[in-house]
Amino acid sequence: MSEPPEERYEDSQLYRIRHSVAHVMAQAVLEFYPETKYTIGPPVENGFYYDFDLPRPVVLEDLERIEKRMRQIIAGNHAFIKKVVSAKEARQVFKDQPYKLELIDGLEKGGTDEYGNPLAEKPEISLYQSDTFTDLCRGPHVETTRLINPSAFKLTSIAGAYWRGDEHNKMLTRIYGTAWRTPEELKNYLKMVEEAKARDHRKLGKDLEIFIFEDEVGPGLPLWLPNGGILIDELERLAKEMEDKAGYSRVRTPHITKEDLFIRSGHLPYYAESMYPPMEIEGIKYYVKPMNCPMHHKIFASKSRSYRDMPIRLAEYGTCYRYEKSGELFGLMRVRSMQMNDAHIYCMEEQFEQEFMGVIDLYKKYFDLFGIEKYIMRLSLHGKAGLGKKYVDNERLWIKTEEMVRRAMLNGDVPFKEVQDEAAFYGPKIDVQIWSAIGREFTLATNQVDFAVPARFDLKYMNKEGVEEVPLCIHRAPLSTHERMVGFLLEHYAGAFPVWLSPEQVRVIPVTDPQNEYADGIVSQLREAGLRASSDVSAQRMNAKIRSAQLMKVPYMLVVGENEANANQVSLRVRDGSRQDNIPLLEFMTRARDRISTRSSQM
Ligand SMILES: [Zn+2]
Ligand SMILES: [Zn+2]
Repeated sequence: MSEPPEERYEDSQLYRIRHSVAHVMAQAVLEFYPETKYTIGPPVENGFYYDFDLPRPVVLEDLERIEKRMRQIIAGNHAFIKKVVSAKEARQVFKDQPYKLELIDGLEKGGTDEYGNPLAEKPEISLYQSDTFTDLCRGPHVETTRLINPSAFKLTSIAGAYWRGDEHNKMLTRIYGTAWRTPEELKNYLKMVEEAKARDHRKLGKDLEIFIFEDEVGPGLPLWLPNGGILIDELERLAKEMEDKAGYSRVRTPHITKEDLFIRSGHLPYYAESMYPPMEIEGIKYYVKPMNCPMHHKIFASKSRSYRDMPIRLAEYGTCYRYEKSGELFGLMRVRSMQMNDAHIYCMEEQFEQEFMGVIDLYKKYFDLFGIEKYIMRLSLHGKAGLGKKYVDNERLWIKTEEMVRRAMLNGDVPFKEVQDEAAFYGPKIDVQIWSAIGREFTLATNQVDFAVPARFDLKYMNKEGVEEVPLCIHRAPLSTHERMVGFLLEHYAGAFPVWLSPEQVRVIPVTDPQNEYADGIVSQLREAGLRASSDVSAQRMNAKIRSAQLMKVPYMLVVGENEANANQVSLRVRDGSRQDNIPLLEFMTRARDRISTRSSQM
């Protein structure tokens, strides 16, 4: 189903509230610091900010004072009154406010709005006044401050920000706040923020010994620790199983190739900024690969193909390297080396819908498995003005492939929305947005339909009439990269992975030293049965051993004391708090193996 058009944020009541609270905040700040030069204060996702050029720094403690004054202003029930003015009148009002004067110049010239953002038409110049505060503003606002709930906003942080985002300009003070309709909404939001902090994959990745970054290795180049290695092995096993069933063939390709290949693919020179610089060997330039596609194209072209062979699905967990600015690196979410759940499907046009839906099916199976309930696919289309520049110059093919994707999504009942003018160079692009268990949004992977590059690589197959044709290519990566997927899963599960994914599935805990040998024997049996198990034979007391297993979020603990050892039994404590005393080891093993083989989310 195509999603009904949502209410634009700019048209929502929340937007008006946040915009209005930003004005109230600016008024309070101006009262405390009368020499302040104020700049812009737009609503943003979940809240608002305002950038000030302050005579002296504000600290977190000041925010409370400002909030308190804001509540008084709100209680005054002031109306927000709009007034359309000439540039001259506006300059008179803001004669002591240099930033506003700069913005008025922009408005007068046209081409930018009151925040300095590009604008197609020349805007009218308007002011909004409430109580003693007047802003250069296009609105919208709530009618009066009475419509702001004084218990539903909070100033959250202070940051530095350059005027107009340009590092050559002055550093301003940005005060962030959040505002909601009701105190409950505010409370839920703040709780979500707290929860998100506790689930931060960078923190969990360290605590659970999943990955590290090492200065001497380099930024954006993660080292996977043994626990991370297990997660990756499990994800690859999953992908291989699913792809085997779906008729993919696995290939392997080198990490570096000659420059020519990337010139042919069109990555060079346009994509050079995102690639590592070349290395020269025997007078030839080699690049580390930013993607696997060109090599897969070469594998497709390695023999002659007939319509009988189609489709050809080539899969590889390929390692790629991309240059990201150090300031843009972010944990596992933005890295410089990555392993991608990559595959390329070469198909005939009449096979496209079925192949495309096969990919969507894979996605749905993964979403099901990981309990991802909310997702949406964004279909990015070409823009007419960009043909021949941003986009391959073939409007007929664009319209045709876009319609093919649209029809496939509609027929497959996939929630999606269309975005104009954001496609890839060589075809429409599908971004998959998913939401984690606590509602945080992630962009997981991009699928692309490629109707141009196969021709550049001279790819062809013989059709039924004995005529050569160029295949379509679908680029897909449902499990994204290991880096992004593990980052997402850490936050989604808060580190408490289902049994099949857990790096350590069972920890055997002897109550006292005499049971150590019995515990080690159990570990051997569990490992023999394919379970990842270890025993804690440290000198710690039992409770401390249990606590350390809980900290590592181990799903099963088997406590063995003298009674258990004598009866050849175990006492099971499950991560979810349930327990089962004195059960035969075999009974536990049957349960655990069942959960693992079905990749169950049950404990
Ligand atoms: Zn405003
Ligand atoms: Zn590709």
